[in-house]
Amino acid sequence: MISVEQALEKILSYVSVLEAEETPILDSLGQVLAEDISSSINIPPLDNAAMDGYAVQARDTDGASRESPRFLHVIDTVIAGSISEQEVKPDTAIRIMTGAPVPKGADSVVQFEDTDETRRKKSPSKEIGILCKAKPGLNIRRVGEDIAKGSLVLKKGSVIRPAEVGVLASLGRSKVMAIRRPVVSILATGNELVDINQPLTAGKIYNSNTYSVAALVQRYGGIPKILGIALDSEASLITRLRQGSDADMLITSGGVSAGDYDMVKDVLAKEGEITFWTVRMKPGKPLAFGSIKGVNKTGVTRNIPHLGLPGNPVSSMVTFELFARPAILKMMGKKNLANPTVEAVLEEPIVNTDGRRVYTRAIVEKRGDNYFARLTGPQGSGILTSMSLANGLVVVPEDKAEIKAGEVAQVILLDWNEELSS
Ligand code: AMP
Ligand code: MG
Repeated sequence: MISVEQALEKILSYVSVLEAEETPILDSLGQVLAEDISSSINIPPLDNAAMDGYAVQARDTDGASRESPRFLHVIDTVIAGSISEQEVKPDTAIRIMTGAPVPKGADSVVQFEDTDETRRKKSPSKEIGILCKAKPGLNIRRVGEDIAKGSLVLKKGSVIRPAEVGVLASLGRSKVMAIRRPVVSILATGNELVDINQPLTAGKIYNSNTYSVAALVQRYGGIPKILGIALDSEASLITRLRQGSDADMLITSGGVSAGDYDMVKDVLAKEGEITFWTVRMKPGKPLAFGSIKGVNKTGVTRNIPHLGLPGNPVSSMVTFELFARPAILKMMGKKNLANPTVEAVLEEPIVNTDGRRVYTRAIVEKRGDNYFARLTGPQGSGILTSMSLANGLVVVPEDKAEIKAGEVAQVILLDWNEELSS
C-alpha cells in the first residue's frame, strides 16, 4: 500500500496545466491569468478632486483662518464627468465635486468643511469664504496615481480574484486570457443506486456521491459533467465511461472495494491502465488511480486521468479533498496546491488502530489565540452528515496510535471558521 504522499505525487505528475482561452472577466473569477496586463491609459486619467470643495490657487489662501476668512469670487461649478471651461485666476475659485477634473490654474481643493459653504447655501452669493490655509496639492488625486500609462498592472500566473476583476474593468477590458477550467466527468457505480429525480424502491439508495463530487468540482473551479449511474456490469460501465471520454479528468465512485474491484479493474485494464490501487489512509483506502483512453473535442485520442473514489460517501469526499482538489488546481495553473491547515488543540482523544493515516471529521473553532478541534460524532464512512457538521479534518499520522486530549494536531480546514453553521 502506498502512502498519501506517494499517491498524490503519482496523480500530480500525471496531470498538466491546461491551455489558456479568452474568457469574459466575470467568468474568469478564480482562474489563473495567462497574459501580462499592461495599461494603455492613466488611472485616474486627469488630476481630480478627492473631496467636494473649491478649486483654488493655494497662495490665495495665505493668512486665511476661521476668524479672518479669505473671500474668493466663484466663477463656475464642475461635477464629475465634466470639464470646466474656466481657468482659476488669482482671487477666484471654482466649486468642484469629488472626481471632477481640477480646472486649469488651480493647484489645490479646499473641502466644504473648511469654507463658509453652509452660510453660502442659505443666502446664495457669488463669493466663498476660505477658512484655512491650503497647501499646493491639497485634496488632489494625481493623474496616473493608481495606474500609470504603460505600466505592468497584473502579472501572468496570478489568480484572478474580485480585485483583479475590478482592475481589469478599470482598464476597460471585457475579456482576458485565462487558463481554462477542467471538465470533470463524474460517474457513480452501483446496482443499489437511484438518481435523485426517481422514486426510491426497496433495497435502493439515492445517488449522493455524484452530487457531492460535482459540488466539490465546482467549488474548486472545474466544470462537472454528470454521466449518471453505471450498473455493476462490465457493459454498463464501459458504455458510461465512453460518454465521459472527452473530459479532462474522469472521477468514478464505488466499485473499488475488495469485493467489487475485479470488475472495475478488468474494465480499466481494457479501457486504459491502472497506476495504483489502495492508499494507506482511513477513510479512503480503496482509492484507485490510472488513465482511460479518451478522445478530445478535435477527435485526437489521448489518455484521461481517472480517479476511482471509494463508494462510501465520506470516503469519496475526503479522497476528493486530498487528491482531486490538487489535481484540479494544478490543471488550472495554480501553484499553491496544499490543503489549508492549522494546528489545533484536541478536545478529545483520537485513536488510530491500524497504522493508516486517519482523517477524522472535526469542528474547528478559534478561541483566543488557539484553534480547538472536537469530533463531529460517529466517524463511520457512510455517515455523510458528519461531513456536513465538520469544517475540518484532524490528521492522525500512521505511526501514532493515539493523539491525547490537550495535544496539538494538524487539521485540514475544509471551510473557514466563520462558515460553520452551528
Ligand atoms: P462500493 O465502494 O461500491 O463498495 O460502495 C461502498 C458503499 O458506498 C456502499 O454502501 C454503497 O452503497 C455506497 N455508495 C456507493 N456509491 C454511492 C453513491 N453514488 N451514493 C451514495 N452511496 C454510495
Ligand atoms: Mg458498489
